[in-house]
Amino acid sequence: MITPNHNPGHPNDWQSELKQAFRQPKALMDYLDIPIAAAHGIDLQPDFALLVPRGYADRIEHGNIHDPLLRQVLSLQSEKEQTPGFVVDPLKEGNAELGYGQTPGLLHKYQGRVLMITTPACAINCRYCFRRHFPYTDHKPKDQHIALETIAQNTSIREVILSGGDPLLMNDDGMAALIKSIDALAHVKRIRIHSRLPVVLPERVTTDLVATLANARCKITMVIHSNHPNELNAITQRALSCLRRIGVTLLNQSVLLNGINNDAQTLVKLSELLFEQGVLPYYLHMPDRVVGTAHFYLDDTDAQPIFETMREQLPGYLLPRLVRELPGGIAKTPVAFEQKQLLNFHS
Ligand SMILES: *Cc1c(COP(=O)(O)O)cnc(C)c1O
Ligand code: SF4
Repeated sequence: MITPNHNPGHPNDWQSELKQAFRQPKALMDYLDIPIAAAHGIDLQPDFALLVPRGYADRIEHGNIHDPLLRQVLSLQSEKEQTPGFVVDPLKEGNAELGYGQTPGLLHKYQGRVLMITTPACAINCRYCFRRHFPYTDHKPKDQHIALETIAQNTSIREVILSGGDPLLMNDDGMAALIKSIDALAHVKRIRIHSRLPVVLPERVTTDLVATLANARCKITMVIHSNHPNELNAITQRALSCLRRIGVTLLNQSVLLNGINNDAQTLVKLSELLFEQGVLPYYLHMPDRVVGTAHFYLDDTDAQPIFETMREQLPGYLLPRLVRELPGGIAKTPVAFEQKQLLNFHS
C-alpha cells in the first residue's frame, strides 16, 4: 500500500523542509556548482525574493546554468528591465470596476465558480509568476470569514477554488477548518485546490491532509502546476498516488515559457509523464505580459507550431487546452489557429 511521504510522528516535516529552502541566489549557485559569472546576468539581490525548496533544487542538473528548472526560479537582472506593453497587473485583477476586488480574498470573475485567495505565500517563487505584483495586502487571510459569508449568500456558486499564493501552505488544521466551512454551504458542490506543492514540495501531502480531503462532502479536484517533465520524480509520484487513491481528481496546468518548455517534445513528454503519475493535462497558459517577465514571453506565432505538433502526437485526452486570460473575459480564452487541413481540403 502506498502511504504519504512523511514519517509518522513528524507531521510537519514539510514545514522544516520549507525553512531550509534556498533564499539566496549565491547559496543556490554554490549548491549547484555554478560559478557566479557576469555573463549569467544573475540578480543577487532581487526585489521578488528567490525561494527554492531543496527537493526541487535536487532535480536541477548540477553545473548547468540553462537547466529548465533553474531558469524558472533563478533571479536575473533582466527582470528589472522595463519592456513596453509589460505591466504590473495585465489581468486587471485589482480593478473593482471589472467586477472583482470588492470582497477581500475573493476573485469572482466566472459564473458558478469563485476563487479564494487563501494566503499570499508560495513554497517556490517562480520568476514568471503573473501574481508577483498582486496586491495581497488587500486580501488578508484574517478576512477569510468575509469571503465565506459572501459565498454563503450567493447560491449560484457551485465551486470554490482555493488559490493564493499556494493554499497548501496553510497547515493541516487550517486546511481542515476551511474545507469544513465550505462543506457547510450546501449549494457548493465542488472544491478545487490550485497548488504547486505536490510538485515542488510533495512532502506537503501528509496523512492529515489526505484524511481531510478524503472526508470532505464536496468533490475535490486538485490542479497541480508542472511545466517540465524533469519536475516529476518518484517523490511526486508517491504524493500524487495518495491523492488519486482517495478519489481526488488530478489535473495539471502549465505555462508556455520561452527557454523552459517551448518545444513540442518537452511538452509531449510532460503530458505522458503526468498521465503515468495519475494526472490529466488541463491548461497550457500563454504567458501574461507582466513586468519583469519579458524574457519568458512567447506569442501565438511561436505557440502555433509547438501546439500543432502536440496535437499530432498526443491522444486528445493528453492534450492540454491552450488558453490565455483576457481582462474582463467570461472564461479563459482558447487560442485558436487557422485550421490548415480544412483550408487545403476546400482548395
Ligand atoms: C482561472 C480562473 C478560474 C477557473 O477557471 P476554469 O476555467 O474553471 O478552470 C476561476 N476564477 C478565476 C478568477 C480564474 O482566474
Ligand atoms: S507557485 Fe504559482 S503563485 Fe506561487 S510563485 Fe509560482 S506561479 Fe506564482
